[in-house]
Amino acid sequence: MDRQELQKLRDLPIEGVAERLGLRVVRHKCLCPFHDDHHASLSFRVSKNTFRCFVCGASGGTIDLVMRYLNKDFKAACQWLSTQRGRFFLCTATQREPSPVCGFDASRYSRFFEHPWLNDEARRFLFEERRIDPRVARWCRITSWKDRQGVPWLQTPYYDREGRLIGVQNRNLIKGALPRFRFPQGAVTSIYNLPVLNRLKAGDELYIAEGCSDCWSLLSAGHKAIAIPSATLLTRKDIEQLSIINCQLSISYNMFPDNDVPGERLFLQLREVLPTLVRHQLPPDCKDFSEYYLQTNPSP
Ligand SMILES: [Zn+2]
Repeated sequence: MDRQELQKLRDLPIEGVAERLGLRVVRHKCLCPFHDDHHASLSFRVSKNTFRCFVCGASGGTIDLVMRYLNKDFKAACQWLSTQRGRFFLCTATQREPSPVCGFDASRYSRFFEHPWLNDEARRFLFEERRIDPRVARWCRITSWKDRQGVPWLQTPYYDREGRLIGVQNRNLIKGALPRFRFPQGAVTSIYNLPVLNRLKAGDELYIAEGCSDCWSLLSAGHKAIAIPSATLLTRKDIEQLSIINCQLSISYNMFPDNDVPGERLFLQLREVLPTLVRHQLPPDCKDFSEYYLQTNPSP
């Protein structure tokens, strides 16, 4: 590797390299992986592209960080960085684009989720029929309302990774009523439960569900999960977002595909973006994870 090549590796943004290693960087700091840290002692100097832990003294640049974190020698660390580089640039380039929140007036809706409130129909739907853990309902800030005709609706907010409201899904709680779902104008139903990504550590398992309610069941079963809005709606933007996640986090991806053709197709589509996606088979009598969850967690 010539000097110019080495300089390119040294110039890779250090915080990006740290995230690529699975460290979670918040305000130029992260938990130091080199000692038993509980207070984000490691800080990054973006201007110098370096890191330093003020407790254990670990310090250096991009190559040092990789050497120490992955326990590699100089040459192996450089090789690792070069293999990451292509993906890395793709990631940072895509990240810089502002998220399109066109047309959706988040300010009009965000107050609904400040104090989520579940009416009787919503409680029955979530806690009795689906046995969703109340903590999951709170984490997801699910709320409910009734329209002028008295129809009860479950209202589910979609947040981006930074916790900004980007969309709202309304679900009709009257069985068999149509339309089952309604979306405010301009609301994006992108990937659901993105804030959970901020809670992942390197090596964690992430489940990918089809739709919010399977996601709630997975969360209630103790998994970390996100959801694709619908098997038939995997958009270019979702794919882009998943590949960014794949670039940034060293985690494993898991899925229980629905026992039907769209479920299978979604799994295959997702595996193209997430090559390590692990498939878990549902028993033949369960059409989706929610049914499986009910079967394995019978009511007391
Ligand atoms: Zn340290």
